[in-house]
Amino acid sequence: MNPNDANFRKPLEAALHHALTYLEKGDDGDSIAATATLAELRAKLDLPLPDGGVDATTVVDELVAGVDGGLLRSRGGRFFAWVIGGSLPASLAADWMTSVWDQNAGLYCTSPAAAVVEETAGAWLKELLQVPREASFALVTGCQMAHVTCLVAARHGLLAAKGWDVVGEGLAGSPQIRVLTSGEVHSSTMRAVRLLGLGEKHVAKLGVDAQGRLLQSELERELVSAARAPTLVVLQAGDLHMGAYDDFRTLIPLAKRYGAWVHIDGAFGLWAAASARHRHRMDGAELADSWSTDGHKWLNTPYDCGYAFVRDAKVHRDSLALRASYVTMSDAARDEMDWNPEWSRRARGFATYAAIRELGRDGIEALIDRCCEHAHGIVMGVGALDGAEVVWEPTINQGMLRFFDPAAGASDGDHDVYTERVIAEILRSGEAFFSGSTWRGRKVMRVSVCGWQTSAEDVAKVVACVAEILKRRA
Ligand SMILES: *Cc1c(COP(=O)(O)O)cnc(C)c1O
Repeated sequence: MNPNDANFRKPLEAALHHALTYLEKGDDGDSIAATATLAELRAKLDLPLPDGGVDATTVVDELVAGVDGGLLRSRGGRFFAWVIGGSLPASLAADWMTSVWDQNAGLYCTSPAAAVVEETAGAWLKELLQVPREASFALVTGCQMAHVTCLVAARHGLLAAKGWDVVGEGLAGSPQIRVLTSGEVHSSTMRAVRLLGLGEKHVAKLGVDAQGRLLQSELERELVSAARAPTLVVLQAGDLHMGAYDDFRTLIPLAKRYGAWVHIDGAFGLWAAASARHRHRMDGAELADSWSTDGHKWLNTPYDCGYAFVRDAKVHRDSLALRASYVTMSDAARDEMDWNPEWSRRARGFATYAAIRELGRDGIEALIDRCCEHAHGIVMGVGALDGAEVVWEPTINQGMLRFFDPAAGASDGDHDVYTERVIAEILRSGEAFFSGSTWRGRKVMRVSVCGWQTSAEDVAKVVACVAEILKRRA
C-alpha cells in the first residue's frame, strides 16, 4: 500500500462534493453568464507564486471558491452561444477516470487498455458518422487539430502525387498547393493552412448560394483554371450561421476529376449522419478523402476531444508516423502516435467510448433530433415576438434572430446596436446565453443548440425571457 494513498481521499472527496453541488444546482440556481468581473477574478485568483506548498484539499476548496462567478454554465440546458455542448454523465465520469489512471496514450505499450478502447471508439465513430470503414482515424484535442491532422495527410498525398516528398524535402521548392473553399469556411481551416505552411494567400474563398452552399460553377471555374495544380478542396458540413451543407454528391466527384483532395469540416455537422431525419444532408460526404469533427460539441463529451478521419490510411500514417530508438511499437495493436500530431497524450478514447455507450445509436440520434427541434423552437418562438425577426430558420441546430429598435425612424445601424443590447440583457438576466455575430452585413443573435440537457421546458423559458425583455424595452 502506498503510504500516500490516504492523501488522495480528502481532496478527491472534496472534489466529488463540489462537483455534485455544482451539477445538481441546475440552471435555475446561478446565472448562466459569468457574474464576476475581471478585477474580482484576479483579486481572488491572481496570487503570488507560493514558496511553500498548500494542503491538497485546501487547494481544491480554494480553487472552487476562487472561480465562483467566473464560470459559464455552458454545460447546462439554456446555453446557445457559439457551438458548445455539455458533458454526458458517463463521459464525464470516464474523463475523471482518465485523469485517475493517468495513462500516456501515445503507444500500445504505454497503455494497452487505452489503445484498445480508442480502437473501438474509432470504429464506432466511423459507423455512426458514415465514414468509410477503411479510413484511419485520430483522436485529437478538437476540430482545429483534426483539420491539421487531416491536412498533413492531404499535403503529403497531394505532393507525393507530384513526385515531391514533403516529409524529406519540406515545402521550399515544392509545387504550390492551392486551397479551394467557400466564403463560409471556418477560420480553423485558415489556421491549419498557416500551421502547414500552405499560405493564406493560396486559399480561394468562393461564392455560395442563398443556402450557404459552395457554388458548383465557381468551383469548376477554379479547378479548370489550373487543372494540374495540387488542389485541396475544403467543404463544409454545417456552418455555424446557417448549418449549411455543401452539395457533396455533386462537388466531390467534380473535384476528384481534377485530382483534388477533398476534406470536410464537420465540426458538429458530421453528426447529422447519425439521424435518419437529417442524414440526407450528408449525402455524398462518404466520397471525401478526409473528415474532421468534434466529440466535445454535439456528442457531449468533456472538452479536449476531436476526431480526424483519413480515407487513405497509408498516406495518413506516412505523413505522421515516426520511429525512435527508445520507443517500442506494436505490430498487432494500435500505436496512437502513428496517427496523431502529439507524442505524449491524454487517453481521450475513454470519454468518447463512454459517451457512445451511454447513449447508444438510438440515444445519439435522439440527441441530434432533439437539438434540431429545440433550435427551431427557439428561433420560431422568439421570432414570432413583437420586435423580433427570424433571420435564419434552422434546418439543423443553427439559426439566427434579429431585433428591431422600436424608436421611430430607426435605421439598420440602430437595429444592429439594439440587437446587441438585447443579447446583453438576456445574458444579464442569467436565464439564457446567446452570442452575436455579423451575417451578411447585419448584426444577428445566433441560436445554436448542442447540449444534451436542453429540454422543451428550456425552450419555453427562453422564449418567455426574451418576450419579457422586449416588452420592457418597447
Ligand atoms: C467549432 C468549429 C471548429 C473548431 O473546432 P474546435 O473543436 O473548437 O477546435 C471548426 N469548424 C467549425 C464549423 C466549428 O463549428
